Amino acid sequence: MGHVFDIKLGERAAPNLLEWLQRYHRDLADDALAARADGRLLDLSAPLPEAERIELLTFDDEAGREVLRHTTSHVMAQAVQDLFPDTHLAIGPAIEDGFYYDFDTPTTFAPEDLERIEKRMAEIIAQDLPLRRQEVTRSEAIAMFSARGERFKVEMIEQLPEDAAISVYSQDGFADLCRGPHLPSTGRVRAFKLLSVAGAYWRGDERNPMLQRIYGTAFPDQAALDSYLHMREEAEKRDHRRLGRELDLFSIPEALGGGLVLWHPKGAMVRHLVEEFWKREHLKRGYQFVYSPHIARAHLWETSGHLSFYRDSMYGPIMIEEEEYRLKPMNCPFHVLIYKSQARSYRELPIRYCELGTVYRYERSGVLHGLLRVRGFTQDDAHLICTPDQIGDEVKGVLDFALFMLKAFGYEDFEVDLSVRDDGDRSKYMGSDDEWEMAEASLLEAIETRGLKYKRAPGEAVFYGPKIDIKLKDSMGRMAQGPTIQFDFNLTSRFQMEYMAADGQRHTPLMIHRTVLGSMERFIGGLVEHYGGAFPVWLAPVQVRVLPIADRHGDYAEQVASELRRAGVRAETDVRKATTGAKIRDGETQKIPYLLIVGDREQQSGAVSVRKHSEGDKGAQPLSEFIAGLKPQLSAPES
Ligand SMILES: [Zn+2]
Ligand SMILES: [Zn+2]
Repeated sequence: MGHVFDIKLGERAAPNLLEWLQRYHRDLADDALAARADGRLLDLSAPLPEAERIELLTFDDEAGREVLRHTTSHVMAQAVQDLFPDTHLAIGPAIEDGFYYDFDTPTTFAPEDLERIEKRMAEIIAQDLPLRRQEVTRSEAIAMFSARGERFKVEMIEQLPEDAAISVYSQDGFADLCRGPHLPSTGRVRAFKLLSVAGAYWRGDERNPMLQRIYGTAFPDQAALDSYLHMREEAEKRDHRRLGRELDLFSIPEALGGGLVLWHPKGAMVRHLVEEFWKREHLKRGYQFVYSPHIARAHLWETSGHLSFYRDSMYGPIMIEEEEYRLKPMNCPFHVLIYKSQARSYRELPIRYCELGTVYRYERSGVLHGLLRVRGFTQDDAHLICTPDQIGDEVKGVLDFALFMLKAFGYEDFEVDLSVRDDGDRSKYMGSDDEWEMAEASLLEAIETRGLKYKRAPGEAVFYGPKIDIKLKDSMGRMAQGPTIQFDFNLTSRFQMEYMAADGQRHTPLMIHRTVLGSMERFIGGLVEHYGGAFPVWLAPVQVRVLPIADRHGDYAEQVASELRRAGVRAETDVRKATTGAKIRDGETQKIPYLLIVGDREQQSGAVSVRKHSEGDKGAQPLSEFIAGLKPQLSAPES
């Protein structure tokens, strides 16, 4: 919500909103970017609206930010056309952290071109040119943009209805087809930066011409821009794809195919440690491990319904003896079959099956992204099957478990979404009203008894049951997808799951799908960025590296390393011919928690000189003392 004011009768003489602001709300005149009245967005250069109440939008409002950034994209487009006259315009929207504009141009933009464009933009801003809004008919708009040779704009206008109200914004000789609103003049763009260039197809379709997209961003002042650029640089340094290469954790080679991950020894060690912790904690909470294969008969996926409602995410048929099989996109039907392998009594419930199950999902190459979006991944999956009496405790148990696991990896802040049915149309949902109400109540109770803040999202539930989604905030302040607790009224009925209840009758059990970490790939990708590659000791693939100062200290270094390994420490030596300084730098780059430097003095006294990652020199101490101090840091957090 922006700043809301009433326009008083005596103030109506002001010719436009900006004037009105300057006369009656001076303190906001500088910060306001646009206004909203009766649900409609307005330019500040527009006349006062009929409405009595008006909302002023600043950079704190999403709509305000978009107006600033989108206006900056117009300024950029003008600069590009001034400097590269053969350039034609496609589209230039505001996006999450800035804006872009797609250009059709014979020039391939290089970094130097971006600098020239920025310089020209600064001139346009210094001129403080007014942006004029003009309303035109469809045929006027077509004539106007045809005359300018803007074929993409003409194509867009032609797709609008005959009687569409079309607006054009122009400044200087530049004109753009645009709904608006915009800043009143270019001088109100105060701090901007062009960030990168990328190829992009017209309308995102690879059969269309390839355009060049310039990304940029804008902020209300230089300080805010600088701090954003700093954060962005930090995020780039922490990018898991970059750290994955630098720390030799994983690769996704072309030879293998997009979205298919090779875990190198160090990345595999991190994954092993996460999995080991995951298994230990599941056993503590009464889960049972199961394993299932990667393919199954297509018939199974018909029974489960995946071949109808999840088909687009599944890979094509695999034929075995003329029968069709499919790679699994989910583990659920396998766990259901294990449940159904014998008659079940209420005395056996709750049953909690868990599996680190590898699944395959169809993803287009364009959306693949490092470890975060892949084609084959291992879910930390579990299915809880229980009676209605047990459901409340089961949901609470899962929620506590999920929060414990995330906190163990240093995540402290969460956002919780409770996705429920659309209040209107209930026909598209599986399960009875009673079941939905009970399920929602148990999810809500778990959230509330744990004192978590949450957002109820009507209409966000999938058709087979309500769910809780938890997002976690990483060390960079970004939100990532975390645990999900999902009811399922579909599979229990499709597979006719049953148990013998205390009343001697067969009943349908309740089933919850849940994942705590999501997938090993996405979770560890996120974890690499969260820690910036500097894993805590218990997760570090190499915990200690021993650096002999000279060749003659090599044997002692090996002896130290083997003693460490006997104490359960992941230790290695660096016996390469290099200066100690170079070895220390390499150990720091590899973000190894401890470097132990050994020379004559250490060798004579059975000691080591300790360097802690990012903290530096900690002095010399006896090896036994170092090991004793390290012990408590070696194992995963306990619940
Ligand atoms: Zn615009
Ligand atoms: Zn499932």
